[in-house]
Amino acid sequence: MLVALDGPAGAGKSTVARAVADALGFTYLDTGAMYRCVGLRAGAGSDPANHAVDVAALDIRFDGDRVLLDAEDVTDAIRTPEAAQAASRVATDPAVRTALVARQQALVATGDWVAEGRDIGTVVAPDAELKIWLTADPVERARRRELPVEELLERDERDASRDVAPMQPADDAVTVDTTGLSIDEVVARITGLVGAVR
Ligand code: C5P
Repeated sequence: MLVALDGPAGAGKSTVARAVADALGFTYLDTGAMYRCVGLRAGAGSDPANHAVDVAALDIRFDGDRVLLDAEDVTDAIRTPEAAQAASRVATDPAVRTALVARQQALVATGDWVAEGRDIGTVVAPDAELKIWLTADPVERARRRELPVEELLERDERDASRDVAPMQPADDAVTVDTTGLSIDEVVARITGLVGAVR
């Protein structure tokens, strides 16, 4: 079974996806980390039309909570605001998306998964048994990420307006607004939804 968890930055996707996966005994897939690895290689200010990263040659692995890029532990390096912006820029490149989506689809083809990203329910796994669109008020999202709201909205805007696989809820996604909710409340709501479709 696959639970697709999509939504904008700071909605709580990673925390919630991890906790839901733990609660259900599913495996967690952080697709944003893969785009962040490509962004890290492309560098800050990367031009999506002109970056020199050959995604097919990148070795991206998950080892528990750690992210390995060509055998180097980049878990912390990919979490900087610069890496987030670089990820969002390279994520507009159709070649980058095609390569990463293929890897993601191969991973989730067997077993039970909670996969989080921007296009899981629309592109990676349109047949997912459950699709959640996780969102929250922008001011709260910016506060959670400790970012100026303008920077967060700039990334949202780029993610939502790109030509290929723009960030958007799948038609059959269930929207969960996490504004003012505790993580436990959100996790309980989503595990409840999983129970209902299982
Ligand atoms: O989720 P996270 O903040 O780590 O994602 C970083 C960036 O990677 C996003 O802003 C988005 O541009 C890109 N991304 C994407 N598709 C996904 C996951 C992330 O385009 N499935």
